[in-house]
Amino acid sequence: MTHHPSLTTRAVHGVRTPPPAARPVATPIYQTSTFAFEDAGAYAASLGDPSHGAVYTRYGNPTTAALEATIADLEGGVGALAFASGMAAISTVLLTLAGAGDHVVASTALYGGTYSLLHEIAPRFGITTTFVDVGDPDAVARAITPQTRAIHVETIANPTMAVTDLPAVAAIAREAGVPLVVDNTVATPVLCRPLDHGASVVVHSATKYLNGHHDVVLGVAAFADEELRHRTWSLLLDLGGSADPFATWLALRGVKTLPLRMARHSANARAVAEHLAAHPAVTRVWWPGLPSHPTHQVATRVLDDFSGFLAFEVAGGREGGQRFTERGTLLIMAPSLGGHETLVTHPASTTHRQLDDAALDAAGITPGMVRMSVGLEDPEDLIADLDRALEG
Ligand SMILES: *Cc1c(COP(=O)(O)O)cnc(C)c1O
Repeated sequence: MTHHPSLTTRAVHGVRTPPPAARPVATPIYQTSTFAFEDAGAYAASLGDPSHGAVYTRYGNPTTAALEATIADLEGGVGALAFASGMAAISTVLLTLAGAGDHVVASTALYGGTYSLLHEIAPRFGITTTFVDVGDPDAVARAITPQTRAIHVETIANPTMAVTDLPAVAAIAREAGVPLVVDNTVATPVLCRPLDHGASVVVHSATKYLNGHHDVVLGVAAFADEELRHRTWSLLLDLGGSADPFATWLALRGVKTLPLRMARHSANARAVAEHLAAHPAVTRVWWPGLPSHPTHQVATRVLDDFSGFLAFEVAGGREGGQRFTERGTLLIMAPSLGGHETLVTHPASTTHRQLDDAALDAAGITPGMVRMSVGLEDPEDLIADLDRALEG
């Protein structure tokens, strides 16, 4: 007599309906931690390489694979990997390239998390870093030693929005045989494709423009070569910074409008930067699209447009900058960048509050400096809100 499972068991297993015959137009969310097999050989093959089929979501996931393939295509890479955050992408790539006794050359102008990773955490694993001004490519060449395993730079570095001369740095990296890692978060592949300039790896905080809606924390890395992608994947498995499929699904959805958004972010930033540059209560504006910006010439060669991230100095020092960020209505005071809403931060009173003016200066931050991620609002409304916040 056949055994009939109980209601409890039937509730646990549910009823599995077959996949639909017609293809879904949108990528489904494979919100599952694990995948079932009918033969042990296929199971084993997938553990060795999930391109044989999904096995466990820390190793890979079909939704995540769709985002990885899309970013690889946009960046011109052979493949990509998604991570739980931008920092997971950056740390996993770093630890793939360098180990005990190895050396890294990095820009002095780095995202804060990347700086602490290289300055405080990597030394505990025996990895040392020389920080150089990458605006001087000769300084990069001089810092390279026989132990150097990576050069790490950012396409557009915050808060001064300095644009790296990627062809010049890539030429030095190639000559030394050292992989160049480029954080392309602020430019995105819409404005710059570092692999085309000779980089080996592009890393992103997909939290920012790639997803674009302030609702996901996610990272991604795209690779010029399959061997390095595979080695990074092997490390990702055991370090464990893998992405969640719901996050990769949201980012995949965000990427569909990335070119439209980058065009609007850049145009809005131009309107705001030009307005601020002429404003009596603003003493300086940092946006690489302005001819007055120190890296404007490099930016016109390396970027297709200038992105939506800028900084400016409000008259009145610390108090002036802080007051400005507290007075916006459309301008939301919050960390991060790259989403549809405009965000502002006054580093001297928030992210860098422990620093005195001399220490701020060393970090490239002035007391009244405000950082602004220009959103997708109507630029006239942003300018009206800016003017109101700058009054007095
Ligand atoms: C935000 C950011 C990171 C870190 O990304 P998370 O997703 O927050 O981990 C790295 N690099 C740059 C340039 C960033 O702006």
